[in-house]
Amino acid sequence: MDRYDVVIVGAGTAGLTAAIYVQRANRSALVLEAKSYGGQIINTPDIENYPGIKHVSGFDFSTTLYEQATELGAKVTYAEVTGVDDEGSRKVVHTADGTAYEAGAVIIATGARNRPLGIAREQELVGRGVSYCATCDGMFFRGKDVAVNGGGNTAVEDAAYLAGVCNKVYLIHRRDQFRADAADVERLRGMDNVEFVLNATVTAIEGDEFVTGVQVTDKTDGSTRTLPVSALFVAIGQVPDNVAFRGVVDLDEKGYVVAGEDCLTRTPGVFAAGDCRTKGVRQLATAAGDGAVAASAAVAYLR
Ligand code: NAP
Repeated sequence: MDRYDVVIVGAGTAGLTAAIYVQRANRSALVLEAKSYGGQIINTPDIENYPGIKHVSGFDFSTTLYEQATELGAKVTYAEVTGVDDEGSRKVVHTADGTAYEAGAVIIATGARNRPLGIAREQELVGRGVSYCATCDGMFFRGKDVAVNGGGNTAVEDAAYLAGVCNKVYLIHRRDQFRADAADVERLRGMDNVEFVLNATVTAIEGDEFVTGVQVTDKTDGSTRTLPVSALFVAIGQVPDNVAFRGVVDLDEKGYVVAGEDCLTRTPGVFAAGDCRTKGVRQLATAAGDGAVAASAAVAYLR
C-alpha cells in the first residue's frame, strides 16, 4: 500500500492549496480527485474578488494552482474515495477502484456539487437543454433565448456570460433580493438582453427531445407562464457529498463536515477544508485560507 504523509481528498482550491503547504513543509501529499482538478471555480469565466489578482478565469486560476502543487511534488491521482479508516497515527483511505492508500493525516476538501431543482424531466433533459454549467454549454445556445435560475453569484455571473453569447437571457429568481454581489447585479440590470423574472419559481420544463420552454410560477399571485427558451441553466447553489467520511467525521443536517475555522474534525489527524465544512462564507479566498490552515494543522499533527 502506497504511503503519504497527507492524503487530501479533492483537487479544488482548498485541496490544492493544502497540497502546496504540505509539500513546502517537506511532507508528501497525495491528492485524490474523483472528477477533474479545479473544483467549482474552474467554470467561473472571470474571478474579480481574489486578493492580488484583478481578473483571472477559473480555468487559468485552477490550472496555475494545479501546476504549483504538482511542481512542488504533490501527486494527483484520479479516484473516488469511498471511506477512511482511522487507526490512530495510521489512516487508510479507500477508493472505488479498490486501491487503498496509507496516510499519517487526511484532509477532506471535497467541496460541493450542483444542487438539482428536483422537478420532473430535469434529469432526462440534461444535455438536451438543461445544464448546470454556463461556460461549458453556453456556446451550444449561441443566438438563442435561454433562462438561468438562481440568485447567487453563480446565477448572476452565468447570466452575464450568457448575455454575451445568447440572444436573450431570462434570470429567474425565487425572491426579489439577491445573494450575489450588488455590483454584479447592477451590471446585469444594465444589459439590454437580460430580463429579470423575480419572485418566481421554475415549475416545469417543456419540450420532448430538447427543451423548448420553461414554465415559471409567480409566487405573489400563483399565475404561470411559459418562457420560450432553448436552455435552462440551473444555478441554485451546491450540496455537499461527504457520506463516505461518516465513519471519521460528524456531518451536520445538510451534510457538511462539522469543523471550525481550525479545520479540526472529531477525529485527530482528519481535517476538513473549504466548502465541504460547516462555515459562514464559502468563497475562493476562504477555500484557499482553509487549505493553508488544514495543511499546517496536519503537519503539526504529524510531528
Ligand atoms: P448560493 O450563493 O447558495 O445561491 C443559491 C441561489 O439559488 C440563492 O439565490 C437561492 O435563493 C437559490 N435557490 C436555492 N435553492 C433553490 C431552489 N430549490 N429553487 C430555486 N432557487 C433556489 O449559490 P452559488 O451562487 O452557486 O454560490 C455558492 C458559493 O460560491 C457562494 O458563497 C458564492 O458567493 C460563491 N461564488 C463566488 C463566486 C465569486 O466570488 N466570483 C462565483 C460563484 C460563486 P435564496 O437567495 O432565496 O436562498
